[in-house]
Amino acid sequence: IPTSRVDRLLGSMGYGSRAEMARMAKAGGVVLDGADLTDVSKRIAVTPDLPSRMDIDGEPLDPVPGLVLMLNKPLGMTCSHKEEGALVYDILPDRWRRRDPAISTIGRLDKQTTGLLLLTDDGDLLHRVISPRRHVAKVYRAALARPLVGTEAALFASGELVLEGEDKPLAPAALEVVSPTEALLTVTEGRYHQVRRMFAAVGNHVEALHRERMGGLTLPPDLAPGQWRLLTPEEIGSIF
Ligand code: URA
Repeated sequence: IPTSRVDRLLGSMGYGSRAEMARMAKAGGVVLDGADLTDVSKRIAVTPDLPSRMDIDGEPLDPVPGLVLMLNKPLGMTCSHKEEGALVYDILPDRWRRRDPAISTIGRLDKQTTGLLLLTDDGDLLHRVISPRRHVAKVYRAALARPLVGTEAALFASGELVLEGEDKPLAPAALEVVSPTEALLTVTEGRYHQVRRMFAAVGNHVEALHRERMGGLTLPPDLAPGQWRLLTPEEIGSIF
């Protein structure tokens, strides 16, 4: 079990400098197992159940490093740390943007795509989820500008579709027709604008795109656009 000095742990979670943590602890702002902790050089075990035991300024400690969040991404937000405008990271508490290791999205959704977006500070987990070799299935619901003609599913499933500007054919993808202008598409890759470009390749146009599922993890119906929550260890396991 990894251990850390309390001031170093709180600093890495964005609470403030070591000097600020020492001052806060002296003022009674750090409570460990129900008792004031004044010596912030104390080492504690950093385990996922730690938050139930430490309070900072009367609030439970934020989740310690090694977290995975799911967000129902709203329209119009960008999955980038750098760009201008509304970023998905703006949804998280301010302090969380100062965390080290930083929290990043696991892959990206376009600005105009909604739905299931995972975020983590665990680089190994991030790479396992997006690795093409893992074939984590992503399920998208697409609203289309034109009625499906009926030949799309066979082409998407063929493993022979080559997107505009690319050489390597796409891996087979499963199309489930919901209505003439709505479909569920399951892909295992994450190429740039993949779903929109797949429908463009068959002469259609995606008007709205929503991700419903990643691996065995489905966006819960009670998670409204813009809302997020931590994943449980079981939910993390269900991704693969
Ligand atoms: N495919 C797209 O075209 N856009 C997304 O956001 C995700 C998959």
